[in-house]
Amino acid sequence: MSDLRELYQEVILDHSKHPKNYHKIDDASHFAEGFNPLCGDHFNLYLKVENGVITDVGFDGAGCAISKASASIMTSIVKGKSVEEADKIFRQFHNYVTGKADKSFDVESLGKLAVFSGVTEYPVRVKCATLAWHTLKNALENKTEVVTTE
Ligand code: ZN
Repeated sequence: MSDLRELYQEVILDHSKHPKNYHKIDDASHFAEGFNPLCGDHFNLYLKVENGVITDVGFDGAGCAISKASASIMTSIVKGKSVEEADKIFRQFHNYVTGKADKSFDVESLGKLAVFSGVTEYPVRVKCATLAWHTLKNALENKTEVVTTE
């Protein structure tokens, strides 16, 4: 388990140093701003949705390693997925990190998101890990107000 945890930490650090999809999208169809006041994480999320499919996604802003890695991994997961699929993944991930998942739930089924399994022990970190997903949800619902994790 400690080897796995080290590996997860490496993946998180790598994504935070070299985030995927870290760019603004000028002709985005959806946009939302996410803010986690507890940690100071603050990101903008840009989406292009065509016929119910997320065809492009990008983000910019600043935050801790976990929030940035989460935004990087979230964007690489949802790109090319339908809005419905993205919502399903969000719900599974959110249930898991907030401790609401079934005991039989296999964390490996979260794929890349399994790297955040360590945050379940730290409620403050859960907000960092889920900020990008909450922002995605609001962007898809076209809510324009700033998302906060409070
Ligand atoms: Zn944070």
